[in-house]
Amino acid sequence: MSGVVVLAGGVGGARFLRGVREAERRRENPRPITAIVNTGDDAWLAGLRITPDLDSVMYTLAGVNDETRGWGRVGESERVSGELRSYGVGWPWFTLGDLDLGTHIARTSWLREGVPLSGVVERLLERWDIGIRMLPTTDDEVETHIELEDGSLMHFQEWWTRHRAALPAKRFVSVGVESARPAPGVLEAIIDADVIMIATSNPVVSIGTILDIPFVRETLESMTVKAPVVGVSPIIAGAAVRGMADACLRTIGVETSAAAVARHYGLRSEGGLLDAWLVDTADEDDLEELAELGFITGSRPLLLSSVEESADIVDAALALVHR
Ligand code: GDP
Ligand code: CA
Repeated sequence: MSGVVVLAGGVGGARFLRGVREAERRRENPRPITAIVNTGDDAWLAGLRITPDLDSVMYTLAGVNDETRGWGRVGESERVSGELRSYGVGWPWFTLGDLDLGTHIARTSWLREGVPLSGVVERLLERWDIGIRMLPTTDDEVETHIELEDGSLMHFQEWWTRHRAALPAKRFVSVGVESARPAPGVLEAIIDADVIMIATSNPVVSIGTILDIPFVRETLESMTVKAPVVGVSPIIAGAAVRGMADACLRTIGVETSAAAVARHYGLRSEGGLLDAWLVDTADEDDLEELAELGFITGSRPLLLSSVEESADIVDAALALVHR
């Protein structure tokens, strides 16, 4: 069995995964953990392949992330970025830190040698001991774009980071998704899992983009998967925590509430994704509706404040399906 399998995005996913790792460490028999990480935010920038969500998870679990800023490496400097800006190379609104650039250069050099992204991740992790297995959702280049009102496409990073998700969007498009395939190990991990967790990540551009890779959603929702699927709400008190996930939910016509996100993921017994959904105490009003729909539910504070607290949240989610 492949233990605990977690679908995760970047910053929210990383904080959640830190809790999963701690929760397993506290067990008498820790199970292996596999994170299937979103690659929809990836982009080519200044000649380099950047993979923001994989990096957020890697840096956070390696303990070298910048806690205050919320992303990137601790002790970062931006000398190279300044030079690139002077040449007009890259996106001036997207900072590439010097230490971070080291990772991007290493990644790109391996990709150019023909190593697939999953192999690149393996090589990067030879340096960083993160205690879990991390898989990109796909080795293929599938990038999330936003279709704007005038029909033009914009890379997700530009819409999110440069425009702070303020430009009205018609829909999200996963460019290249049709011919993409899950990375080696992704479907196997899902099929062999003891339990599958949906992290407190953006339901649209982190979890949604993972599910959209051909065969991922189909496998999760099929009867070959015996493991229970439990999600933890990224929405607290009807709002996204430190973020603009509401702009993404609005675009796909889903209300920003814990219950609406659960309904959007759907109930497994009815062809959807989830067996169980943990909400914050502030969203207890949603519990009755969710229970009536057939979800196994519970509530507790869901702020991933410390590692200990995050592990307690993970334990509470696991308890819903191990009852
Ligand atoms: P990104 O790829 O860096 O945007 O990160 P993710 O997609 O993994 O996570 C973003 C989501 O994490 C946001 O929608 C937030 O609502 C959620 N989030 C961030 N911090 C917390 C927290 O402390 N608790 C919960 N429940 N959700 C959180
Ligand atoms: Ca992301």
